[in-house]
Amino acid sequence: MQRIYLISTGGTIEKVYSEQSGVVENRAAKLERYLRMLRLPDAEIRAEHLMNKDSLEMTDADRVEVRDRVAGLLAEGAPIVISHGTDTMVETGRFLEESFHDLKVPIVLTGAMTPLGFEGSDGLQNLTESLLAARLLAPGVYIVMHGQVFPVSRARKDKDNATFVWA
Ligand code: GLU
Repeated sequence: MQRIYLISTGGTIEKVYSEQSGVVENRAAKLERYLRMLRLPDAEIRAEHLMNKDSLEMTDADRVEVRDRVAGLLAEGAPIVISHGTDTMVETGRFLEESFHDLKVPIVLTGAMTPLGFEGSDGLQNLTESLLAARLLAPGVYIVMHGQVFPVSRARKDKDNATFVWA
């Protein structure tokens, strides 16, 4: 069994439509519901919900919280996937890269341009790709989106095309 840790922090991938406010917002975790749709016979996914934020609202303290949780898991020696809003995914990834100099496992950040469950969502694709990439990649911090793998220092969000490109 390959264990993989999955930490969710919010972002578009987990957004829901609010019938009250009429906007799409981060209110509740929904990643685990989608995880159950995947066939992963030799993987043990340990999912945990750390926060539920649009990444534009993430503070330095939030990033320290993410770093501290990652630090607590690194001793387990298993890959870590972090679901995160795409707008500041690179910023958090770089912070993690600066924080951990001798990684023994890959840390993969992923998210979505359209929420899980919405028509045309890229969320399940990105989640699936990230779980596979986390098993294959060398130690380091990466962004995995849309069939692409970027070392975090080489990635940038391309807002016009709603994807990530090489920086
Ligand atoms: N601004 C939001 C965020 O970064 C939406 C972008 C996204 O997740 O794709 O969380």
